[in-house]
Amino acid sequence: MERKFAKDLIHFIDESVTAFHAVEQVKSLLDDNGFERIDLKDEWKLKKTGKYYTTKNNSALIAFIIGEEDLTQNGFRLIGAHTDSPTFRIKPEAEIDILNNYLKINTEVYGGPILNTWFDRPLSIAGRVMVKGENPFNPEEHLIDFTKPILTIPNLAIHMNREVNKGVEINPQEHSLPILSMIEEEFESENYLLKIISKELDIQIEEILDFDLFLYGTEKGELVGLNEEFISVGKLDDLAMIHAGIHGLIDSEGRNSTNVVVLFDHEEVGSSTKQAAGSPLLKNILKRISTNLELTEEEYFRALENSFMISADMAHAVHPNYVEKSDPNNRPIINKGPTIKIAANQAYTTDSYSSSVYEEICRNVNVPVQKFTNRSDARGGSTIGPISSSQINIASIDIGNPILAMHSIRELGGVKDHFNIYKSFVEYFNI
Ligand code: ZN
Repeated sequence: MERKFAKDLIHFIDESVTAFHAVEQVKSLLDDNGFERIDLKDEWKLKKTGKYYTTKNNSALIAFIIGEEDLTQNGFRLIGAHTDSPTFRIKPEAEIDILNNYLKINTEVYGGPILNTWFDRPLSIAGRVMVKGENPFNPEEHLIDFTKPILTIPNLAIHMNREVNKGVEINPQEHSLPILSMIEEEFESENYLLKIISKELDIQIEEILDFDLFLYGTEKGELVGLNEEFISVGKLDDLAMIHAGIHGLIDSEGRNSTNVVVLFDHEEVGSSTKQAAGSPLLKNILKRISTNLELTEEEYFRALENSFMISADMAHAVHPNYVEKSDPNNRPIINKGPTIKIAANQAYTTDSYSSSVYEEICRNVNVPVQKFTNRSDARGGSTIGPISSSQINIASIDIGNPILAMHSIRELGGVKDHFNIYKSFVEYFNI
């Protein structure tokens, strides 16, 4: 069962090549499980025990099941995660011709990838393309995925840099631009990328208005380890929590509280856009749910006080080759359970109240729990939890499964952990 669930996660990640594609995957899962699609632009007529989802920018998604009981008393029970992962974004006018027939694509770094892990890999391009529509405000939106490995970023040979294994500075404008092709004919700068897009979408070049395109590695994820105990795949951060959260929502049967999974975009670049945790997106949707159920303003605020949020993002496992990088005591181990993340500077929302709640939930279903803190002399990362809390006033905890190589093109997580965190999510929604 654990292995099957981990393989399902790998498949989900392999298909979720960009945030847009991750949302598309989640939508089809929800469609298959009786959730009704509603549009933010339409008038909502929600019913108790109804299952719904809506999207923002097609890169963020909120799915929810309205509780049977009084929302004021039972509140919202939320899980938050993010759809985006570190990568490279393709710039406009992307073709760069250099001498000797190489055609390179101009990119900028998205988020904080470990750049050297992107070298010498088969890479492809995916994202969305805007195509001329009926009027300027309604362009047609097309998802695109070339699927084939059409790009690569070659390393410099060690013979040309003998110091390479002492650490190399990578300049993203100079050293990490991918090669798309060798060109024989004379260089026509504006046409290469648009040509392949128009061919892929079967449209005219003139119809293409703009695009959001990103690179991704085409190598599929795998279970590795002598006992297949590890999940080796990119974007575990944070697609693993999306996978566990959405399946937790679908498989839960509790209908006391109103259960919500919110998938924000743009966590890796500061969460400040209209579809990110720093926006009023979630607040507005919770308000609309409460208005639909005819709660007064007073009752809505009481419902928020009776609510709870799990901000689910990955955590750092202790690295066997860099043990000294972890806290002496609070150093999670892969496959020893979901991890509660704690920081004195409140980079995580966890406090003793929310931590107690989550630990009890895990205890109910025999799921082990670990705790993570940064070394006292290290800053560590942040996540959607505190940013979302600045918009909406709900008790919250930051948790996630421990992984190695976070933000590498290929991260390493645990098979058992993934199933255990899913079990904890089902229980959370069931109580
Ligand atoms: Zn993350």
